[in-house]
Amino acid sequence: MRIVLVERRLHCRSGVPRVYTTETTPPPPHEIGINPVFLPSLWTIDNLPEPMMHFGIIVIGAGNAGYSAATTAAQHGVQNVLLIEKGPEGTGGNTYFTAGAFRTVFRGLEDVLPLVCNVTPAQAAKIDMQPYTEQNFLDDLARVTDGRADPVMAETLVRHSRDAIAWLSLIGVQFTLSFNRQAYEVNGRQKFWGGMVLSVKDGGKGLVQDHQRAAKNAGVSIWFETPALALITNDSGAVIGVTVLRYGKPTDLYSTAVVLACGGFEANPQMRAQYLGPGWDLAYVRGTPYNNGDGFRMTNDLAKAIGNWSGCHSTAWDATAPKDAGDPVLTNAFTKSGYPLGIMVNSAGKRFVDEGVDFRNYTYAKFGREILKQPGGIAFQIWDDRTIGWLRKEEYGGAVLREKVVAHSLEELAQKLFATDQVSQDAFLRTIEEYNQAVRANREQFPGRKWNPAMKDGLSTQSSFKRLSLPKSNWALPIDQAPFLAVKVTCGITFTFGGLKIEPETAAVISKHNENPIPGLFCCGEMVGGLFWGNYPGGSGLTAGTVWGRKAGANSAKSVRAGQLQEV
Ligand SMILES: Cc1cc2nc3c(=O)[nH]c(=O)nc-3n(C[C@H](O)[C@H](O)[C@H](O)COP(=O)(O)OP(=O)(O)OC[C@H]3O[C@@H](n4cnc5c(N)ncnc54)[C@H](O)[C@@H]3O)c2cc1C
Repeated sequence: MRIVLVERRLHCRSGVPRVYTTETTPPPPHEIGINPVFLPSLWTIDNLPEPMMHFGIIVIGAGNAGYSAATTAAQHGVQNVLLIEKGPEGTGGNTYFTAGAFRTVFRGLEDVLPLVCNVTPAQAAKIDMQPYTEQNFLDDLARVTDGRADPVMAETLVRHSRDAIAWLSLIGVQFTLSFNRQAYEVNGRQKFWGGMVLSVKDGGKGLVQDHQRAAKNAGVSIWFETPALALITNDSGAVIGVTVLRYGKPTDLYSTAVVLACGGFEANPQMRAQYLGPGWDLAYVRGTPYNNGDGFRMTNDLAKAIGNWSGCHSTAWDATAPKDAGDPVLTNAFTKSGYPLGIMVNSAGKRFVDEGVDFRNYTYAKFGREILKQPGGIAFQIWDDRTIGWLRKEEYGGAVLREKVVAHSLEELAQKLFATDQVSQDAFLRTIEEYNQAVRANREQFPGRKWNPAMKDGLSTQSSFKRLSLPKSNWALPIDQAPFLAVKVTCGITFTFGGLKIEPETAAVISKHNENPIPGLFCCGEMVGGLFWGNYPGGSGLTAGTVWGRKAGANSAKSVRAGQLQEV
């Protein structure tokens, strides 16, 4: 196939020149504001032939990773970057549904203060925040993935995490300190915990808006409602374009490089059942309905798949949430991650996880799977008067909690939760009784320990007087003070862990045939495999998306500059 560049210049509304080939036609005129004097005589504004166009770089998927790639490519001098998105304008993939929490290394409060817009000097004086070092981040990745995270991928993510945040800030992403998510007020001071301190102002919605503005300012064209259908390759196996569905018609778009940023397969029930296992088709989808594994289907014959294909990120999720996609207004509010402050029981009245084994942001991503395994795929989160006030309003406040069960005795709570199921009611009351005895025994043995949700406080169910076969390792208080609160949760799937193998330094996709980079193909975001296994340190997904999005953007831009595909 022969592609000839630089034949005819048309001008888009933003004034950025775009280049098309002799054989190609421009996009619909209303979209690029074509001046008719530039049109060949055969074409008229109303009578354009079926479009077939050439771009420098095409990025597939307008989430955090895709935006990071597209904006970076434009910043590296590629003038005709096209970002195509399956969803309609206003969507932004899973990124839109996030809390906008980013995990990065930092040297302490003074390192992050210049990045954030929500801290006054008076507030700063009352903050306690430990630095989060490269070694801390690497250790967290290794610990939660049981040592399976690819070491080069992990090292690359960690080493570039702080630069990624600085770059996002430079392009206009507004960060805040996550007081609500990641700090507790203890003795009048805000104590940050869990190694993650930054969120974007207005969460995922704010992040998508900031990204979109930056991409447009950089000259990136964004086409919504344009799903990629297939990659176009040449005889030597290089990727030279994408077939998309445009105005209902399959349309070939050509480019020097393509960046895949179109998410995992979390919203595809068939693929979930096939790869994650039986029952996963029943999980609730926390985010976008558009991440259906299209990128994997398109690269099935080309790219090497690696990583944890039976694994995913899944959380405790409000059982009243919509099933097949997140709610665009409430987004992340359906997450129910207050279990470290209480306990979780299944529909048989039994506990099934150590709710206090680690800080929430190191356990929440694996507990969805545990809930799905329970009878009916549901569980109840339980608190008493001591801890109800510590629950986050964003997840449990009146504005977001659709259903809750309140009771003034444990017996009443048992009746309300298990209705006519006397066996489960009895089992539940036994569970609470044993748990309370074990907590009190720990207190007796370690009277000096103080309850503190901002550190692993060692208040547990284990002591030399009594041990539970399933411990609660931290933050264990008796559940015996009315009123009692219960919230029903199910499993919400966030994103899938299996993905494509990339070259960590360039984000080039590795061929399944020869283990070499596939010319013209890059990948970033959820589609990348090898990093997360079984579990995940909260806030790493967005950071990983920007780290490899920037690499994909910069290295695809290099291939444009090198003019690799001018004559093939
Ligand atoms: C409720 C929720 C809360 C979360 N909170 C956080 C958080 O606070 N911090 C964090 O780090 N992570 C969080 N995550 C995970 C985070 O969303 C992902 O790690 C990250 O957003 C993935 O970015 P991405 O760009 O790879 O994918 P996405 O943002 O999902 O973007 C992929 C895009 O590709 C598009 N697409 C799919 N197929 C095609 C196709 N064929 N053609 C064209 N476009 C296509 C999709 O429509 C989508 O817009 C959360 C996820 C959810 C659901």
